[in-house]
Amino acid sequence: MYGLTDEDLAVQATARGFADELVPFEVEAELAGGHLPPEVEQRHRERARELGLTATNIPAGLGGRGLSSLQQVLVQEQGGRVTNALAWCMSTPPGWLPEVASDYQRERWLLPSVRGEATECYAITEELAGSDVADLAATARREGEDYVLDGEKWHVTSYNEATYAFFQARLVGGAHDGEHAMFFVDLPTPGVRVVRTPAYAHTIAHHHPIVAFEDVRVPASHLVGAEGDGMTFAHEWFRFERLMVAARCLGAAERLVEETTAFAAERVVGGRSLADYQLVQGMLADSLTELFAARAMVYATARSLDEGADRKVAHARCAMAKLYASEMAGRVADRAVQVFGGRGYMRENVAERFYRELRVERIWEGASEVQRVVIAGQLRKRGLHALV
Ligand SMILES: Cc1cc2nc3c(=O)[nH]c(=O)nc-3n(C[C@H](O)[C@H](O)[C@H](O)COP(=O)(O)OP(=O)(O)OC[C@H]3O[C@@H](n4cnc5c(N)ncnc54)[C@H](O)[C@@H]3O)c2cc1C
Repeated sequence: MYGLTDEDLAVQATARGFADELVPFEVEAELAGGHLPPEVEQRHRERARELGLTATNIPAGLGGRGLSSLQQVLVQEQGGRVTNALAWCMSTPPGWLPEVASDYQRERWLLPSVRGEATECYAITEELAGSDVADLAATARREGEDYVLDGEKWHVTSYNEATYAFFQARLVGGAHDGEHAMFFVDLPTPGVRVVRTPAYAHTIAHHHPIVAFEDVRVPASHLVGAEGDGMTFAHEWFRFERLMVAARCLGAAERLVEETTAFAAERVVGGRSLADYQLVQGMLADSLTELFAARAMVYATARSLDEGADRKVAHARCAMAKLYASEMAGRVADRAVQVFGGRGYMRENVAERFYRELRVERIWEGASEVQRVVIAGQLRKRGLHALV
């Protein structure tokens, strides 16, 4: 089904097998603030690398796996079946970086990331600039051979695991005054400090602290691409990550439908199997139907990227995939909690964990409303036939 080749199916099977290895660790992680013993986390990272499930988005010539977009979706879909972000060990370095990195940047940050020796985090969002990334207040000022960076960034995911950050800011002075630029900032670097680490709805090992950058001095060699390019990278990242969010939502929905169906079959209520009640059947049927629709859409989007779809068209399709799959997964999780009843409200239950964890898929990488704005904008500019 779905026209997958033997190679696609092999990639999918490897990722599925690895996800199945991670599932037994979920409850332990949930009850320990998202953390597993360091040696277990290390083993998972090594295993993901051995199986070729890391750097799937990086060309083979740079040490990555060089998978097609569809194959990357198949891998991340399987990762999405696991709660507590345990499958984030199937890491994907920034796929837009090889094209723009200088030789120095390639050696210093990109290749170590591909080898799993370095980890990035993204410091872009601010207290007053989230959906409207263009509105950043953080600044970058050129001083001789250096840039001086200032700003306070919110929700910096994986800061506690990262060895460097991408810091996006508005340039002050010079030919590109007011435009955006992005910089590599090694962690730790003098002037970078955690303001606080808020607790979030999900329980994962990756924190999202508020981080202050105060008079942080980096050499000009840390500028990514050229001055004024900052927003371009954010858009490249959005396209990729929105599709991968959609892929992980498929996996989550599949796991939920599987687990809910199994539970409904074995649970007896009022002397009958739960699965015999038509109102319960309705919930299972709706979830399966929506999963099928979302999967067809996400795979078709990935294929169109592999076939070289126009960038703007791809942008709209990835937005549609993310919008639909994330909202679908939210509905599926809600129904799953309902079918599990009181058990579905216990943190040891997969439905409870996904119910919390999937909520953010409708917010990060652009809230659902922002996806709708992107889609409607492209519909207006290009017309229905260009997009679907
Ligand atoms: C767990 C988590 C991890 C994150 N990780 C990172 C990270 O690593 N790096 C990083 O830089 N950022 C990160 N973010 C930030 C994330 O990308 C933003 O939260 C998101 O883009 C929304 O921005 P905001 O929270 O400021 O909401 P706002 O921009 O204040 O928007 C609030 C709400 O307003 C509505 N809205 C916004 N714009 C429109 C519009 N045009 N039309 C209609 N309605 C609209 C939406 O419903 C939206 O949810 C993370 C966020 C979370 C929650």
